[in-house]
Amino acid sequence: MNRSLVLNASYEPLGVVSTRRAILLVMTGKASTLAASGTKWHSRSMELDAPSVILLTHYVHVPRRRIALTRQAALDRYGHVCGYCGKHGDTLDHVVPRARGGTHTWDNVLIACFRCNNKKSDKLLSELGWRLPFELKEPEPNVASFITMRWGEPAWEEYTSPWRRRELRMAG
Ligand SMILES: [Zn+2]
Repeated sequence: MNRSLVLNASYEPLGVVSTRRAILLVMTGKASTLAASGTKWHSRSMELDAPSVILLTHYVHVPRRRIALTRQAALDRYGHVCGYCGKHGDTLDHVVPRARGGTHTWDNVLIACFRCNNKKSDKLLSELGWRLPFELKEPEPNVASFITMRWGEPAWEEYTSPWRRRELRMAG
């Protein structure tokens, strides 16, 4: 595997780079090797252990990737559960109806069943005496699980598991 896992200084997985790039980061002091891959990497002047996992020396702020708001994305987030009655639902509902100035944003949508959706129509929750069972907010992309799915590299598992990350952070 000529790829290396990159962890932020906080031990949060950031992404995957070529081993060549990882070596460059280590050699320039921008990162340190947390785990070696077991293979040697040669250049004209030196030989070193190729890193499998590197840790950035300084914390980098990464702009959060946004998850586009679509019916499918909302279904994935809320698991086909109606936000109003808890039964199976598969329609996208704007809590503040669009006709009443509601926005098409994560903090204003949920999944509703056909029945609730119909009943709610263009009304506000306050007019129906309904309450939201949870706070609506934008989902955060899960980089760790994305890396696991995309690469399936067993040597990285302990660095992408949230439990192990907590231990590493406490030790460091
Ligand atoms: Zn419902």
